Amino acid sequence: MLGAWRELVHTARRTTAEGLVVGTSGNLSVRVGDTVLVTPSGLSYERLGDAEWCAVDLEGRRTAGSLSPTSELPMHLAVYRHTGARAVVHTHAVHATAVSTLVREVPAVHYITAELGGPVRVAPYATFGSDELAAHMLTALDGRNACLLQNHGTVAYGENLVQAYDRTAQLEWMCRVWLAASSVPGRTPSLIPDDELARVEEKFRGYGQRPAAQ
Ligand code: 13P
Ligand code: ZN
Repeated sequence: MLGAWRELVHTARRTTAEGLVVGTSGNLSVRVGDTVLVTPSGLSYERLGDAEWCAVDLEGRRTAGSLSPTSELPMHLAVYRHTGARAVVHTHAVHATAVSTLVREVPAVHYITAELGGPVRVAPYATFGSDELAAHMLTALDGRNACLLQNHGTVAYGENLVQAYDRTAQLEWMCRVWLAASSVPGRTPSLIPDDELARVEEKFRGYGQRPAAQ
């Protein structure tokens, strides 16, 4: 469990170092069995050591540590209750947050959309930490592994922290591409059609390194 906590802290620090959040914005969690390790609320990731660990069960009851868990616990728990996720990353990444104020769905300007399960939806605004926000997020995540939160930020999940983090970074990058392309006066970005997204999704299944044949 300590190894999982240390990986969570390492990934949390990456979100700050790589510019996806400032200050104490954002939060992360990882599921180990029926335990969820979460970042504590309102604490700089630099201050997180082994003594600051924070664990809850799937109902949100604290099972270890003395610090209050993230205010966005309802979002994290909703993801674990309704998907097979093992890790969740929430950020206030600049370009993604900007896009969340402009559209209801992130235009598919890049094939990386397929890695996120299809065109990324924007969950309607609700107050941070509320059950209402968690409900809007869950609807936006239907069939997807990432969404934007209107006037707020990003949520992405995965089989592990590396995957949830990488999806967050890809989503932020794609939002930046769309903002750059759509800001050219008099021009409208071309989009990737649904049938091509389906082809790419299939291709992603065999993408990258496969284990060597025995
Ligand atoms: P916490 O510090 O409670 O995790 O809140 C940060 C945040 O991003 C709320 O949406
Ligand atoms: Zn937030």
